[in-house]
Amino acid sequence: MAALYATKGGAKTAVISKLYPTRSHTGTAQGGIGAALGNLEPDSPLWHAYDTVKGGDYLADQNAAKVLAENAIEAVIELEHMGLPFDRTDEGKISQRRFGGHTSNFGEKPVRRACHAADRTGHMILQTLYQQCIKHDVKFFDEFHVIDIIRNQGAVAGVVAVELGTGELHVFQSKATLFATGGWGRVWSVTSNAHSLTGDGAAVVYRRGIPLQDMEFYQFHPTGIYKMGILITEGVRGEGGVLINGRGERFMEKYAPNIKDLASRDVVSRSIFLEIRDGRGIKGKDYVYLDVTPDTVNRYLAEAGESRRITGEDIEKKLPDILDFCRTYLGVDPVKEPMPIQPTAHYAMGGIPTNINAEVVMDENWTVLPGLYAAGEVACVSCHGANRLGTNSLVDLVVFGRRGGIAMADYVKHADYVPLPANPTADIEAEMNRIRNSKRQNPPRRLRQMMQKTMMENVSVFREEKPMQQSLDILRGLRERYINDLSIDDRGFKFNTDLLEAWELGCLLDMAETTTLSALNRTESRGGHSREDFKARDDQNWLVHTLISREEGTPAYPTSQITHTLNTAKKVDMSLAAEDERFVPKVRTY
Ligand SMILES: Cc1cc2nc3c(=O)[nH]c(=O)nc-3n(C[C@H](O)[C@H](O)[C@H](O)COP(=O)(O)OP(=O)(O)OC[C@H]3O[C@@H](n4cnc5c(N)ncnc54)[C@H](O)[C@@H]3O)c2cc1C
Repeated sequence: MAALYATKGGAKTAVISKLYPTRSHTGTAQGGIGAALGNLEPDSPLWHAYDTVKGGDYLADQNAAKVLAENAIEAVIELEHMGLPFDRTDEGKISQRRFGGHTSNFGEKPVRRACHAADRTGHMILQTLYQQCIKHDVKFFDEFHVIDIIRNQGAVAGVVAVELGTGELHVFQSKATLFATGGWGRVWSVTSNAHSLTGDGAAVVYRRGIPLQDMEFYQFHPTGIYKMGILITEGVRGEGGVLINGRGERFMEKYAPNIKDLASRDVVSRSIFLEIRDGRGIKGKDYVYLDVTPDTVNRYLAEAGESRRITGEDIEKKLPDILDFCRTYLGVDPVKEPMPIQPTAHYAMGGIPTNINAEVVMDENWTVLPGLYAAGEVACVSCHGANRLGTNSLVDLVVFGRRGGIAMADYVKHADYVPLPANPTADIEAEMNRIRNSKRQNPPRRLRQMMQKTMMENVSVFREEKPMQQSLDILRGLRERYINDLSIDDRGFKFNTDLLEAWELGCLLDMAETTTLSALNRTESRGGHSREDFKARDDQNWLVHTLISREEGTPAYPTSQITHTLNTAKKVDMSLAAEDERFVPKVRTY
């Protein structure tokens, strides 16, 4: 969306992507994109903004949440006009379904806000936007892997990328650069994220002195396929699916009496963990059931006094990919039997700090770094605060991607190219050569598994000082081994995925360490960050964002002695919200 709008604004635009673009992870997004169209029942952007701020446990910048909710409507209609094949209501309008935390009238009851194309909404968005980019002559550099950013004279001059096919390094000089490199779910062992989601963009800018914001807030989605982590969309619960414990109880009635299984993700993930911890997992194990069989769903719909009923055919039509995953990977047919699920690492609320025009900001005074932009999951415009609501990421991508594209097109009209420093590839070339020639003890796979294990055990849904400190020590040991004791097999140049995966491991280690440090620092529980030793939310001291940075002067490489500094002076922004529209923090119940 950013590339499309930069091009439409007159900028000469290139997209550099380590994957073939339509293989980007957005293609796996299932359930929907949220917009208060009100096609099936009354809805309003103000209710959407309220749900977003409440869902984010009041850490969301309210100006950003408001922009998200208001711009969502136009963005979805624009996608429709570009040809995105949304599902339709009987009247021919875009069909909408329920999703966790989305309500009408400030929390009164669940509302149908998620616009969907079966359970392949992200795939359709990606294909639609790619086609539009081709139509508008955006230039694509496919399978070019960005490994460094070039800063000079207080601004950003471009990036360095490796061409996968040849191993050659390329310098891309640009007046404006936008990072949209996605998340870092591969830090954890059970995750919905693909192998490619290794936090490259966040790590690259972090190493060059740009802070990362709110890294402690990482979302665990309640329903991943047991042990595999593959996502089962919240759309299943939106269609009426319920969570059942080992005693056959619908346990969410206890934790969220009002909207039950459709409470926000942090609440549902914690509830599942508590059920399991108290011995109420299925057969006493560490999973519960998600049941969307028509008998169960219709029984609960009848109990709730709803006239709607579902059939096996409805499920086949609305959730085809989910049925396919379960039949293929589990041998379970969700139309006839419940699915075994457990929480799975899913979404980074934190990332590269930006304002609402996707310009990267450097500090608590919102100082803009000229020429650098970020959007999508890698960015933290902080519309999601401490916990993102389902369907709000796809909105975030198109809304803030578009705003970033427009802002870049304006910026390049008056900006000059920033001159390149002498030898802009020297540092990164040395680092790549170090990795290429590593012949010691530890293959990246081994270090990655150890990182994932400790992060899963100690820095996941529930957190506590001592175990997190242990993880930090392990992570630092892993970094030492990464620097001094690594081993890779392929020393060539062409398609050296071995080398790039080892480089990606360095990024994952950065993500793991900044997450753990930020989580240790925040001595309260809020949204996706739940401390066993600080159980309450503390608005008095913690209604602020975390900025973590590398101490000034720390070299980008080698990365063994890094000193990180934490700053919590950046306040939640309410500048665009009118006084009577501001959402004052309250106790969060569903
Ligand atoms: C299974 C699943 C289901 C989901 N369902 C929904 C949903 O229904 N609704 C919703 O709102 N959200 C959903 N989400 C979340 C949402 O899909 C993601 O947050 C969002 O798609 C991320 O988009 P992005 O553009 O930021 O990154 P991505 O789509 O991950 O794209 C990242 C891009 O950056 C490129 N890249 C990365 N590193 C480099 C590098 N070093 N050099 C060059 N290029 C690089 C990649 O090639 C890729 O093109 C879901 C997520 C998952 C995992």
